[in-house]
Amino acid sequence: MKKITIAIDGFSSTGKSTLAKQLAKVLGYIYVDTGAMYRAVTLFAMQNHFIGSGRTDFQGLVKSLDDVVLKFSYNETLGFAEMYLNGVNVEKEIRTLEVSKNVSQIAEIKEVRVKLVDLQKEMGKEKGIVMDGRDIGTVVFPDAELKIFMTASPEKRAYRRYKELLDRGDNVVYEDILENVQKRDYIDSHRDISPLMKAEEAIEFDNSDMGLKEQFERLHSYALRIIKKHEQ
Ligand code: C5P
Repeated sequence: MKKITIAIDGFSSTGKSTLAKQLAKVLGYIYVDTGAMYRAVTLFAMQNHFIGSGRTDFQGLVKSLDDVVLKFSYNETLGFAEMYLNGVNVEKEIRTLEVSKNVSQIAEIKEVRVKLVDLQKEMGKEKGIVMDGRDIGTVVFPDAELKIFMTASPEKRAYRRYKELLDRGDNVVYEDILENVQKRDYIDSHRDISPLMKAEEAIEFDNSDMGLKEQFERLHSYALRIIKKHEQ
């Protein structure tokens, strides 16, 4: 089967990664969660005191970017690739509310974006990839054959993230999550470089009231249709 590139962008906690993972699995494609990459750089910045406790040293972070080695490694049991920062599995640490609170500031730094976008383009060179993020259909793969843009109400998204964090044992308050979701929406869509926006040709998916099964079936059928078209 001819392979295509699938770009899934959208607001925080719209369920992009759940959907992207499922789709990659049935198509036999690679799945890449680019949010995990921005989160890992943020964790590095926090560990090295370039951000946190009310202070920031972005120049220091930029100078240290060569020391940030990111790698995805596939976990057979979980069925997806986990994020490694300098050889350490950071899959759990990068999903905390603390990292969520800092990540959009780190994602505004030009040098960080250049480094990560280069890595992402390299990963998708051979096609056969489902990548999710904020700028995949606009900047990373502007020629992607299928582009999806996902939205849902901030309240629904915050509730989903709240449940996720509670389920893994984090002590969180719903209002804090909602505030974080809204702040990230604002920073992500107003930054100068690669702001979050819908690519002109992207299919918009509002999943406020749509179940996972329905979303997956729709997305899968779009993908199969486009793959078929490219085989002709
Ligand atoms: O997808 P996730 O919520 O994990 O992304 C975390 C943050 O990383 C986003 O809020 C955004 O600031 C940043 N990001 C980005 N570009 C991407 C993916 C994520 O700026 N392609």
